[in-house]
Amino acid sequence: MRLCDRCGKRITPDEDYRPYDIPAGSGAGITVFLHVRPCRRAQLQTAPSGRQPARRYR
Ligand SMILES: [Zn+2]
Repeated sequence: MRLCDRCGKRITPDEDYRPYDIPAGSGAGITVFLHVRPCRRAQLQTAPSGRQPARRYR
């Protein structure tokens, strides 16, 4: 089972996805998958570092 790294939802077998390699600073990178079709970005969780800008809805 794969999860889309953008919307956080499952990628079902009938959906197209694209793998992306994310290099990690400490060594082995990871591969994430994104839907090929544009999907909605998952809502941001609480920012751990607080460096995220204030949420703006408009
Ligand atoms: Zn997605």
